[in-house]
Amino acid sequence: MNVRDFTFDAYERFLQAATENDFEVLTVASYLQRDEPPERFVLLRHDVDRKLDIAYSMAQLEARYDVSSTYYFRTSTFDPDLVGAFEGFGHEVGYHYEELARANGDVDLAYERFERTLEAFRRHATIETACSHGSPLSPHRNLDMWDEERPPESFDLLGEAYLSVEKDDEDPTLPSYCSDTGRRWGLVEPGFGLVETTADLVSLLESGACDKLYVLAHPGRWSRTGPEFVERVAWDVAAEAGKRAVGPVHQATQQSGSIGADVTQTLARSVAVSRQLAGATIRWR
Ligand SMILES: [Zn+2]
Repeated sequence: MNVRDFTFDAYERFLQAATENDFEVLTVASYLQRDEPPERFVLLRHDVDRKLDIAYSMAQLEARYDVSSTYYFRTSTFDPDLVGAFEGFGHEVGYHYEELARANGDVDLAYERFERTLEAFRRHATIETACSHGSPLSPHRNLDMWDEERPPESFDLLGEAYLSVEKDDEDPTLPSYCSDTGRRWGLVEPGFGLVETTADLVSLLESGACDKLYVLAHPGRWSRTGPEFVERVAWDVAAEAGKRAVGPVHQATQQSGSIGADVTQTLARSVAVSRQLAGATIRWR
């Protein structure tokens, strides 16, 4: 874990590397609308799980680089008064749904609520795509709500951010996928190697080894300032530890190995560091 990563400075270097190296940055909707994707592109998506204020700052920063991306809002982060500003920056607003987990696995109830929430969102924004939330504490995978008779497209959507975008790290004609989950990008790109840090991601964009990339950045994992950085690291470590504590629920996505002790130590260190910083507060949410 690189604890100096995932700052807005690092994110800005990523945006610079993308634009200076002729990557077209695409929203999920614009990607799905095209018959042929461009030769070089970064499909850029944000799941706004929490920290709407950081998402807003990220949206603003991207607009400065003339970059459009997709922001997926949960019902808990969707602010009718603010989504217009995201669209005003040129971004796509999408629905980060979690109906199956919320409905405790009841598929019909999940469909009913999905439709109702989509309608409510659409009173304030143009919603063309949706994206499932991880719901790490639930045994139900939100993505599993879809059946063949009622696909996302039947709700007048262009598609779903996981189901509708084909990706393959090994196939140069398809985008390689990487996400900031766990504070590491975790991509192994043929001809380049391991992409762990945002500096690695910048090097990848500069290297020419990869022309097509699908990037997921959670705004809530990024920090704008020093104190916020300490807070974000502590939160992330706690969140990851929480996911592991849940155990077999999400076995398929769990990483193997006994890293529980490391996590506990790192958490203790983060909390100690944060206490030393005057004015730094940790909000556990
Ligand atoms: Zn999410």
